[in-house]
Amino acid sequence: MRLGYPNSMLAAETPTETPTETPTAPLPMVLDEVEVETVERISPSFVRVELGGPALADFGVDGPLYDQRIKLVFPDDAGRLPSFAGADDSWWGTWLDLPESERGHLRTYSVRAVRGTPAEPRLVVDLVLHLEHDATGPGSAWAAQAAPGDRLVVMAPRRGVPFGGIEFTPGTASELLLVGDETAAPAICRILEDLDRDARGAAFVEVPVGRDATALAGVPAPANVDVVWLPRDGAPHGSRLDREVRRHLGVAGSDDPVPETEVDPDLWETPVYSSSGEDVDLPVATVGHDLDGVYAWIAGESGTVTGLRRLLVRELGMDRRQVAFMGYWRRGVAMRS
Ligand SMILES: Cc1cc2nc3c(=O)[nH]c(=O)nc-3n(C[C@H](O)[C@H](O)[C@H](O)COP(=O)(O)OP(=O)(O)OC[C@H]3O[C@@H](n4cnc5c(N)ncnc54)[C@H](O)[C@@H]3O)c2cc1C
Repeated sequence: MRLGYPNSMLAAETPTETPTETPTAPLPMVLDEVEVETVERISPSFVRVELGGPALADFGVDGPLYDQRIKLVFPDDAGRLPSFAGADDSWWGTWLDLPESERGHLRTYSVRAVRGTPAEPRLVVDLVLHLEHDATGPGSAWAAQAAPGDRLVVMAPRRGVPFGGIEFTPGTASELLLVGDETAAPAICRILEDLDRDARGAAFVEVPVGRDATALAGVPAPANVDVVWLPRDGAPHGSRLDREVRRHLGVAGSDDPVPETEVDPDLWETPVYSSSGEDVDLPVATVGHDLDGVYAWIAGESGTVTGLRRLLVRELGMDRRQVAFMGYWRRGVAMRS
């Protein structure tokens, strides 16, 4: 993960000035230690944690959460967390100046839900265990061992202060297409819960095994949003998504994986940001097919998302202003922190 927008949320979501001139002014976001209150292994591949603590009294999002992303800092190998106590707006540089071994590990997650009361909220986060690829990282390793009382640092929106970190912006679209792998499942479930009940469309979510699908399938989605759970059960990552999205759109074609060299590990193409440097303001010629009126939100492993982007934008000529394609992780690449 590079430290620019958007995975780190730092450049875009940390204003360069604090709201007041005083050195003790609070940061424009919550950046503090929280405690694990509950841990639940909701399915073979997902661990659900509830995070609480006094710092979260200032947490708040103005409107639905949708795909609100947050940062978690996991402890280093010795179990230590960096301290952000009394941090001012130079916190980022101060943190980067720490020896790497003392920084902990910063990773990006989605807010699955907020429980409790506004004064004492608890953030619910669903963390994926990387069981298939034998490639664990600090986040998945922490999740596998998580227990009540464990401590983490969270960076999350502060009530009343613009923070960013929500990419789901369907505007006036008449139909939705939500597509993601297991890392996008928490965000997709949140979006489905937050949508207006008259929303229309389809959601395709690929998860490692059938019992993951069973555990997540109860999400209360609008009646006219068809939610399709796709257990991989050993199939190549993304292959079921590719096939089902093609079927949904009535497009034939292969589900061959995109060659390694053609995958941007930092893939992030939204109506307002382009990791490849495309001009986000340029209208794209559309071919007038029946994707007009569709808004697509697609997230997951970067190779999988690249393949879906090619299908929608290159093959079908979908207007890139109507789509958000987000690489949430890249096979073989650890998030940089
Ligand atoms: C906006 C956003 C929201 C996200 N929301 C969530 C969320 O709610 N829940 C969630 O679990 N993840 C979420 N992710 C993905 C998560 O940040 C990455 O999977 C991250 O790499 C996990 O960190 P790690 O320390 O476990 O692994 P890393 O140290 O980053 O990677 C170590 C190794 O594990 C591999 N790896 C990383 N993720 C996976 C995976 N899912 N399956 C198999 N191998 C993997 C890497 O390729 C690498 O080889 C989100 C990412 C973004 C950008």
